[in-house]
Parts: sequence; structure tokens; C-alpha cells
Amino acid sequence: MAGAYEQLLDATIRHLEDLQSRGVRHVNVSQETLRALSQPAAGRDARPARPMESPSLKSDGPAARPYPKTASVAPPRSPVPAPLAEQETLLALPGETVPSQGTPLDPQAKAAAFAALRERALACVKCEHLASSRKNVAFGVGSIDAQLMFIGEAPGADEDEQGEPFVGKAGQLLTKIIQATGLQRADVYIGNILKCRPDTPGQSAGNRKPTSDEMATCIPYLHEQIDLIRPKVIVALGATAVEGLLGKTIGITKLRGTWKTYRGIPLMPTYHPAYLLRNQATSEKRKVWEDMLTVMEKLGMPISEKQRRFFLKA
Ligand code: URA
Repeated sequence: MAGAYEQLLDATIRHLEDLQSRGVRHVNVSQETLRALSQPAAGRDARPARPMESPSLKSDGPAARPYPKTASVAPPRSPVPAPLAEQETLLALPGETVPSQGTPLDPQAKAAAFAALRERALACVKCEHLASSRKNVAFGVGSIDAQLMFIGEAPGADEDEQGEPFVGKAGQLLTKIIQATGLQRADVYIGNILKCRPDTPGQSAGNRKPTSDEMATCIPYLHEQIDLIRPKVIVALGATAVEGLLGKTIGITKLRGTWKTYRGIPLMPTYHPAYLLRNQATSEKRKVWEDMLTVMEKLGMPISEKQRRFFLKA
């Protein structure tokens, strides 16, 4: 059986061939990656490289330019992802290394790739203002084999303190919602558009929405998380999550409850749990619950009559 490195290499080659078959002729590769690629395969089961013509590897200068103005893999992109129609055929963004297509990695390779991604995110200083104000990076939490992934906006004070998404009041409500489906928090994966808490200079408390630059800088980490986890369903919590993922600024009230697609994965927009904390109406809770029932149906989860009736007036 091929080792983790070979599987990763094969997956990368397949991804490049897939890009090539779609007419892509250049990919951006950082100097750092080029240097790593030209290293001898020390300690690995070295084998001759598979011959590959194009796409040619075109250096894009020093690494860590978060969102180049021109990308030769994909057409130049706005800070937020492409419109919905393009979502199904998204190409990897510069800086992303894990393809979403092809054979899944074996568990060992997947865990290694995820751990490496986590390390990179924890050390990230691309948004200098956030890197200097954060206490912790809230990378993500849960099972990397989850079928269901929840994506929120950004860490708040509690999440910054603990380095884990959704641990404050809204997080506790999210945990209850997850448990109402019959799952546990550890069965799903929970992440955010932004991994660092948006700073609020001059204020001792409070949160702010991430800027589009911050979202664009951070989103490649989320892309890689999604591509590695390969969830069957994504739930986008609130308008900012939808905006960050789909580039849509349409109100969440209009979008919630209808399936969208993100990187080929069914995505259900719903209200953010913080909204439910602000608006305690049973009708609003029922809307989120209906969205969760739709998700459960899509995942083939058992649904009891009692569950179907949650938040319905007697
Ligand atoms: N709100 C979010 O969107 N994410 C968190 O992690 C916490 C609160």
C-alpha cells in the first residue's frame, strides 16, 4: 500500500491533471514550495517523478502573499468567493494544497495533512493586526471525518480565550442544536470563516464583523479544512458565513432553508445561534430546527416524530 507521502503526491498530480484538462496552463507555486519540491526525498520511499508536461509551474515570487491580485490558476477573484453558478467548478486558490477531487487520503495521511494545516494556521500572521491582538487562533474543532460541518463567522472573546470556535453563549446554543439532532459536538466539525478574533481597537469589549480583506485572507484555510474533511453537508451559520462562503450579501432571512452548493457540497444557510439568543421567538427557533431537519434528511439520519414536532405549538 502506498505511503502517506505518495498518496498526497498522487492526489496532487491528479488535481493538476484535472486542472490541465480544464484548460489551466499555469499554477502559482511559492518559492518555498518550489524549494521543498526540489529537495531529495530524504527518508521517503523515493521514486521517479511521473512525467508531466503542462501545467507549467510558474513561480509567484516570495510565499505568503495571501490573495494575489492576479492568479494564473483561476481568473482573478473578488475577495469573496465566486458567484454560486461558479461554485461547482471552483479551482483551488493560490496557497491551497489539497484537492477536493480524487481519491480521499488514507486516515494517516489525512490526519497528517490536517495537523500540518493546523500548524500553519496557528502560526499565521497574514493579518498583522489580528495576529497581534489575538490570544489564540480558533482553528476548528470536532471530527475530521465528520459528515456534517458547521461554519460560523469568527471567534469572539470566549473563543479567543480558549482557542476553540463556538464555546461562548452562542456556542452553547449551537451544541444544544447539534445534540437535538442526536449527534454530539465531537461528531461534527465546527469552524469559522475567520480563525482570529476581529480586533476592536480602543474598545475593551464587543465584536465586529470581519472585513472582506480579512475573510479573503483567511478563507484558504477553511477551503483546505473542507477539502480534507469532505463533509456531506455544510451548515452556514448566519449572513457573514454565507457571504464568506458564497459571496452573497443577500439577507439570511431570504437564503435560509434553501440548499446551495459550496465546492460541490450541499450547503444549508441558517440563522446564527447568536440571532436566536437575541430573538427568543419560538417561530425563529422552529425555522432553524426545520433547516436542521432538512439537513438530517439529506444525511439519512433517523428522525423521530418527537424531533419533527420540536418548537411546534401544541
Ligand atoms: N460566533 C461565531 O460565528 N463563531 C464563533 O466561534 C463564536 C461565535
